[in-house]
Amino acid sequence: MKKFLFLLALAASPFFVMAQPAAEPTDTSWKKKYRATPTKVNDLVHTRLEVRFDYDKAWMYGKEWLTAKPHFYSTDSLTLDAKGMDIKEVAIVKGTSKSALKYDYDGFELRIKLDKTYKGGENYTIYIDYISKPNEVKVKGSAAINDAKGLYFINPKGEEKDKPTQIWTQGETEATSVWCPTIDKPNQKTTQEMYMTVPAKYVTLSNGLLLSQKKNTDGTRTDYWKMDLPHAPYLFFMGVGEFSIIKDSYKGKEVSYYVEKDQAPYARAVFGLTPEMIKFFSDRLGVDYPWQKYAQMVGRDYVSGAMENTTATLHQESAYQNARELTDGIGWESTIAHELFHQWFGDLVTTESWSNITVNESMADYSETLWFEYKYGRDKGDEQNQQDRRRYLSDPNNAKKDLVRFYYADKEDVFDNVSYPKGGAIHHMLRNYVGDDAYFKSLNNYLTTNKFKPGEAHQMRLAFEEVTGKDLSWFWNQWFFGSGHPIVKVDYNYDEPGKAKVIVEQTQTTGKIFKLPIAIDVYTGASKKRYTVWVENKIDTFSFNYTQKPDLINVDADKVMLWAKTDNKTNENFVHQWKYAPLFMDRSEALDYFNRKSMPELAEGLKDKFAPLRRSTVNRLGQSAKFKADPAIIQSIENLANTEKEKTTKAAAIAFLAKTKDTKYKSLYEKNINDSSYSVAGAALTGLKELEPAKAYDLAKKYSSDAKGNLGDAINEVLMAEGTEADFDLLASRYEKMPLSQEKVGASATFAGYLEKVQNISNVKKGIDLIIKFRNLVPEQFRSFVDPTIKGGLTKLGKAKGKEIEDYINAGLK
Ligand SMILES: [Zn+2]
Repeated sequence: MKKFLFLLALAASPFFVMAQPAAEPTDTSWKKKYRATPTKVNDLVHTRLEVRFDYDKAWMYGKEWLTAKPHFYSTDSLTLDAKGMDIKEVAIVKGTSKSALKYDYDGFELRIKLDKTYKGGENYTIYIDYISKPNEVKVKGSAAINDAKGLYFINPKGEEKDKPTQIWTQGETEATSVWCPTIDKPNQKTTQEMYMTVPAKYVTLSNGLLLSQKKNTDGTRTDYWKMDLPHAPYLFFMGVGEFSIIKDSYKGKEVSYYVEKDQAPYARAVFGLTPEMIKFFSDRLGVDYPWQKYAQMVGRDYVSGAMENTTATLHQESAYQNARELTDGIGWESTIAHELFHQWFGDLVTTESWSNITVNESMADYSETLWFEYKYGRDKGDEQNQQDRRRYLSDPNNAKKDLVRFYYADKEDVFDNVSYPKGGAIHHMLRNYVGDDAYFKSLNNYLTTNKFKPGEAHQMRLAFEEVTGKDLSWFWNQWFFGSGHPIVKVDYNYDEPGKAKVIVEQTQTTGKIFKLPIAIDVYTGASKKRYTVWVENKIDTFSFNYTQKPDLINVDADKVMLWAKTDNKTNENFVHQWKYAPLFMDRSEALDYFNRKSMPELAEGLKDKFAPLRRSTVNRLGQSAKFKADPAIIQSIENLANTEKEKTTKAAAIAFLAKTKDTKYKSLYEKNINDSSYSVAGAALTGLKELEPAKAYDLAKKYSSDAKGNLGDAINEVLMAEGTEADFDLLASRYEKMPLSQEKVGASATFAGYLEKVQNISNVKKGIDLIIKFRNLVPEQFRSFVDPTIKGGLTKLGKAKGKEIEDYINAGLK
């Protein structure tokens, strides 16, 4: 699973980095509750379902034939998870006959008394006739999905205009049991058959292969899907709706994309790298793609990000991009890689418990780095890894949590910035330590040893130990079974003639001292010598003899360490690092330093070979009073605005120039306002607004029907600043449709500013309602960060409009 929560998106933005974490719940009894792996009394063997849907009631009618067996010890009973169902019949099936069984049902668990005592490994088949009522079930839910309904009816009665009718399911963590009685635990695996009866106009998607389709006389069709390889219940999937199916292939297996019809022209541009990804991951892992097919569907109102249902991944609508958005890059590419990698790590070998989710999620997270590195080069992979580290380090609370976590308040809590980015960054260190060949051979060993079974973090360790011959308990104990990270200070000493000393001090106050294998490169001019050392004490000192004083000593020369570092290098050291040290992180660190010290070398970043560094340099120069007025720098950025190929970097250069308000760039803006990239066009419109507001207003109206991203924001800005009373409907609708985002916080104040111009009181109130509705959607712990902007805008509006409106605002904010 990959989560994209509004809250997380906000938390990742600089505005929110300082946000205080939510207060701990007052009930802390969970701290004493060890989360053991679920006991296997019975094992699932095979699940056969026949389902049809009642769109009016949002119910599903199900008949299930479930084959199970006692795991080891004999038993005469079977307990199934079955949430919020009507259970109509439970029977044991013997050949063609069935006989009723006694059962207890409390709305959560179905406790069945079998017809006799079955021995370990002895199969039996149960028949259950039931109704699933997902909208009526009350289950404590996943943070990702608000409430774990498992089965979702989207616009089932077709009452919402412009929204298709769809059905999709979301099993993780334990919500498949809302629509399918099962042992809903990740350490169970079952083969599966699905007979889905749906209105004939719809297509269906499920796990495995579509083996047959049968037209019924009542206008419905029954699709038969079969998954003949065992997988965990939380990976079951059903999707139903009107979709175009765009087909690719990998080694004769179908690779397909289920998208709404109007998105079909772009489906291949968004998802078309999938076959290459399958080949890359198959080759890297030495385990060929293990399933029958790979389908990806985009579901409406799916707020959970994306989910790796076996052979049938579901994505949220953010996956959709039109041709213009795609000129800025495939926004969903890392998620496509992430869910695909789960088909091995998660689906083929499945975490045995939520405590061990690292064996699913840290791997999927790290696959994003692997894919980017392979496809676009080392810089791109390293940038992804840097983002992982930053996401983990951005919240001090993360340092308190073990990666493998046996104590948690809720199983949903483990899907966090420890299990994902910290785990990914840990695997990056591990790969660097054991070496590429050993790393991928060990992953191969883990997958082949545990395929179609559950796995835990120790099995991953054993797989690495077997391949490398090294004891790796220290690594697993430190990183997987422990918490935190080193906070180091690095100093350099040349007091002794001919001898350079590097002093690494671990300053974290937890008392835990980390053991770290570190590469150190000692530079003289362009040449360097590599030393490998172990940091393992509170203070370690390393000495290097020299004949000529080094220009740079580059500690952690591979730039893999997950640590917070104060590196007391000199200006000259950092300039040398910028010039000679090769990695993305070397250059990024040097530019950070130049920026902090306002050194003119910062402008060198405009020439970096990697676009994101050029872009961040433009942005930083634009934030510096000293640099943004420097004619030479302005000239360099003008050149970049004219020649840059990477669109978002070009847009940053134009945005920089826009702030100069220099009329000589007017033709540059006019030329770029028609650019295919929304980013470039938006920056150009902003530039024009500064010079000719009336013209910008006309253009904003002209382009408002096809404007997303940066162009959409720029149009909102222009229309709200320059618009008249007559523009109210257009502006209110544009504001309302803005996604929940950081941008919308700023737009709220701008919109409030626009409302000052509106005389129609009922429109002013409508506008205020929209702003307050958005503000109230912001989770409480983040309010103090949005309120200065949003309330500030509203207060100003109230003052301008008088008491009636002031009172209206105050009442709304209560
Ligand atoms: Zn995931």
